[in-house]
Amino acid sequence: MAEKRDYYEVLGVSKDASADDIKHAYKKLAIKYHPDKNPGNKEAEEKFKEAAEAYEVLSDSKKRAQYDQFGFNMPGAGGPGAGGFSGGFSNFEDIFSQFGDIFGGGFGGFHSSSRGRQGPPRGQDLQIKIALSYKEILTGTTKKVRLKRYAPCTECNGKGGSNVKECPTCHGTGRVRRVTRSFFQMVSETTCPDCNGLGEVIGKPCSICHGEGRVLEEETISIKIPVGVSEGQYLNLRGEGHCGPRGGAAGDLLVVIAEKKNDFYTREGDDLHCTIDVPVYKLVLGGNLRIPTLDGGEVSIKVSAGTQPGAVFRLKEQGLPPLNGRGARGNLFVEVNAAIPTDLSSKEKDLYKQLAELRKDKDNAKDESLIEKIKGFFS
Ligand SMILES: [Zn+2]
Ligand SMILES: [Zn+2]
Repeated sequence: MAEKRDYYEVLGVSKDASADDIKHAYKKLAIKYHPDKNPGNKEAEEKFKEAAEAYEVLSDSKKRAQYDQFGFNMPGAGGPGAGGFSGGFSNFEDIFSQFGDIFGGGFGGFHSSSRGRQGPPRGQDLQIKIALSYKEILTGTTKKVRLKRYAPCTECNGKGGSNVKECPTCHGTGRVRRVTRSFFQMVSETTCPDCNGLGEVIGKPCSICHGEGRVLEEETISIKIPVGVSEGQYLNLRGEGHCGPRGGAAGDLLVVIAEKKNDFYTREGDDLHCTIDVPVYKLVLGGNLRIPTLDGGEVSIKVSAGTQPGAVFRLKEQGLPPLNGRGARGNLFVEVNAAIPTDLSSKEKDLYKQLAELRKDKDNAKDESLIEKIKGFFS
């Protein structure tokens, strides 16, 4: 098989395309490469499947987030379709059963009309972002988050009201048929607009939720964050999203991780990097340096006489832990910077002058040889 093309490229949309743009782009391609229009054309069939696979991923916010982060190299556990996006469609009928709704009920010939009354729809997913400090990433934490989400209406116990009867529009099937002629003749069956596919209508709607069976509530929930997470990763909390109308199952809560900027440390994978200012005399003569560590403690390292600015010391396992703490912590790399004093007393200034006098011959000789060497390049 040829090299897989980037899903955004396949659909011809930009990385920040909206859900609508993606839907629109997919619809255009699906119509262009539709097998009805391209009978026996293998290339069109491949294009059609390629677009369907791209749409499957990019139309799903979770899968899209993972794809943006990992591309085709998906981590196995917890990812959408563990082991990568395989597409997994065996034939066109599969594609249409998956994507039927985008065409308003599916294409004629592919649509199965046997679908009956649906249960109440599932609630929508919620997405929140949580910003964490490196220290919280080191130890793991529990965050309290305030969010607005649909919860079952307590007045009607989520039923939406009383005096429930069969929907007169669809006679309880939850579906209505219609025939449209446009590009293709479509005999489509869609969700009944009067009962939203439930097959039932409420005679006496609840006065609190007006028949929805759910109300928007502001809640504070606690979210446990494992150690070792990183920017862009997410936790998917099953059933913690909006509850569905009239007893429908709850959607998921997607918690996207962000990292707070740190003034001292920067992160590279599980390793941390920092730079510390060291007095010139300590670099010249050697001595001990105190390095603050992420857990709030400190370690002491010895630098030898003549340590140069830019020298890097590695503190083993003083970095961040891997996700869920499975394995050794990363390292802390400390880069040394020479701190040049700007607040010299007159006595210190005198001493530096004496030092300069003492060093003059050695340093001038060094300058000479450098200048001669560089001149040599051009002669
Ligand atoms: Zn109610
Ligand atoms: Zn109905």
